[in-house]
Amino acid sequence: MDYLPIFTKLENRPCLVVGGGSIALRKVHLLLKAGAEVTVCALQFHSSLLEKGNAQQITLLKQAFTPELLNNKWLVIAATNNKEINQLVADKADQLQVLVNVVDSPEQSSFIMPSIVDRSPIVVAISSGGKAPVLARLIRERLEALLPMHLGRLASISGEFRHRVKAVIKNVSLRRRYWEKLFGNGELANLLQKGQTDKAVQLMESSLTEDVARGDVALVGAGPGDPSLLTLKALQLMQQADVVLYDRLVSSEILDLVRRDADLISVGKEAGNHEVGQSRTNQMLVEYALQGRKVVRLKGGDSFIFGRGGEELEELVEAGIAFQVVPGITAASGCSAYAGIPLTHRDFAQSVTFVTGHRKANGEQLNWKALSISNQTLVVYMGLIQSEEIQTQLIANGRSPDTPVALINKGTSSQQHVVIGKLSELVLLGGGLAGPTLMIIGEVVSLAEKLAWYKPESNQKLSRDPFLVNLA
Ligand code: SAH
Repeated sequence: MDYLPIFTKLENRPCLVVGGGSIALRKVHLLLKAGAEVTVCALQFHSSLLEKGNAQQITLLKQAFTPELLNNKWLVIAATNNKEINQLVADKADQLQVLVNVVDSPEQSSFIMPSIVDRSPIVVAISSGGKAPVLARLIRERLEALLPMHLGRLASISGEFRHRVKAVIKNVSLRRRYWEKLFGNGELANLLQKGQTDKAVQLMESSLTEDVARGDVALVGAGPGDPSLLTLKALQLMQQADVVLYDRLVSSEILDLVRRDADLISVGKEAGNHEVGQSRTNQMLVEYALQGRKVVRLKGGDSFIFGRGGEELEELVEAGIAFQVVPGITAASGCSAYAGIPLTHRDFAQSVTFVTGHRKANGEQLNWKALSISNQTLVVYMGLIQSEEIQTQLIANGRSPDTPVALINKGTSSQQHVVIGKLSELVLLGGGLAGPTLMIIGEVVSLAEKLAWYKPESNQKLSRDPFLVNLA
């Protein structure tokens, strides 16, 4: 972080602006909005500055800048069009340890002024540290569109209502739940939008007696790795959670998006190497929910596809705990999309089957005969350790040894690797791979070369048979 964002209280605090033109005027406006006591020093003043001076909103000093003007000032803004003067102001301010901003010159400034989205008392400040002002502006425009105008009013009445909530709901985390529920309440937003503040306050009052103490569990699919493949709902729940139980497959970039104060608990497991047993995980979900906490069970991909989501829900039903399920993008969808392999295609595959290489001990055998019919796509989850069996069985049951196969390692992440070859080479192809790997077997894989993400600038030629594509 090059700069520490802080919000300074300037009410009745003396500040200096050097320069009397339209840029100085803009800065004066901002300082006045924050209630600062503003002095402007310049040889000539913009007419609006003169007006403000006459109205005694600001003090005008018609003189050249001298260092004495910095005495007792909290901060100074140099807004002249003369580089030397701006530099002089910056140097003197630094000597006296007065915060200084030279307009449009971050290298001369000890503080910079961010782009602002003002929904006072909610204020959002955006800065690119002077490196990409246009990007910062675009972000600001997005936020302007995103944050409703009534947000300020919502924050104000919430501020007035805080003491009441504190008096009624003693427990801190229950209080937080109350506010989360309230702010997520569409009816409240509606009332404020229509300017019906009285009714909004009534709603806040009546919500105080609702049961906020009940915990619940959300089974959330986190997608295959790329954090931008999270659903909006997943993100929302992750940001409201008290406790998050996550799998090994959930990437650290995704965990970074969880509410900072939430407890993060790893119940990671790899095929055959159970760190926290499934029954202990089920138990923990129940325990946390019974404590009245909002629990998010975050799983790689989708919870209902080789995610044991069903087993966890059964436990919750038994314990009478409220739950919801948020679907995620499963590895088959994510990996195939990022590798340019359509799972079905009118010319190559009329069906797609998802199977797992890892089965319960003494589990049912796969129906190799059915899986070996051509013109269907087979997606194998957790298949790497079973490569040999898969290769042998499919060929023995009639699938052509030349059937194209793809191994997608760490799919959709920045380290995605795609290895492509033939069914007869499956074991060989997977030899060097570690980490989550998805197998796609079938004629559709032949499209990968053509449909892998097109990057004309890289002019990348793909070697064939087997070839390796690194999309990083
Ligand atoms: N519920 C998950 C699957 C869990 S099983 C889902 O819907 O995606 C774990 C297996 O999924 C891994 O062994 C691997 O085969 C596959 N997998 C999950 N994420 C993957 C990724 N990013 N890249 C490749 N394979 C992945």
